[in-house]
Amino acid sequence: MGSWFLRGTLSERSGKCGKPTCHCAKGELHQSLYLVQSHGGKPRQLCVPRAWQPRIRQAVDDYQQWQRLLEEVSEREWQRLKEPKR
Ligand SMILES: [Zn+2]
Repeated sequence: MGSWFLRGTLSERSGKCGKPTCHCAKGELHQSLYLVQSHGGKPRQLCVPRAWQPRIRQAVDDYQQWQRLLEEVSEREWQRLKEPKR
């Protein structure tokens, strides 16, 4: 695991940039990667630059992995609390 953590989900979208001379106008759409995150109860999103994509994907993965791990530990603690040893 790396040392970058990022909460959110990645969303791949394709679209046209609007330039009539661009290859996207002929149907080769641009692929963009967006990071979507809820922040203070409101969703927000960022376009991830191509050069950052591997690092951002890793950071999002690592965050989710840690979150699952913490959830497991929390669940074990819950069960321990529910059934105390006498
Ligand atoms: Zn274009």
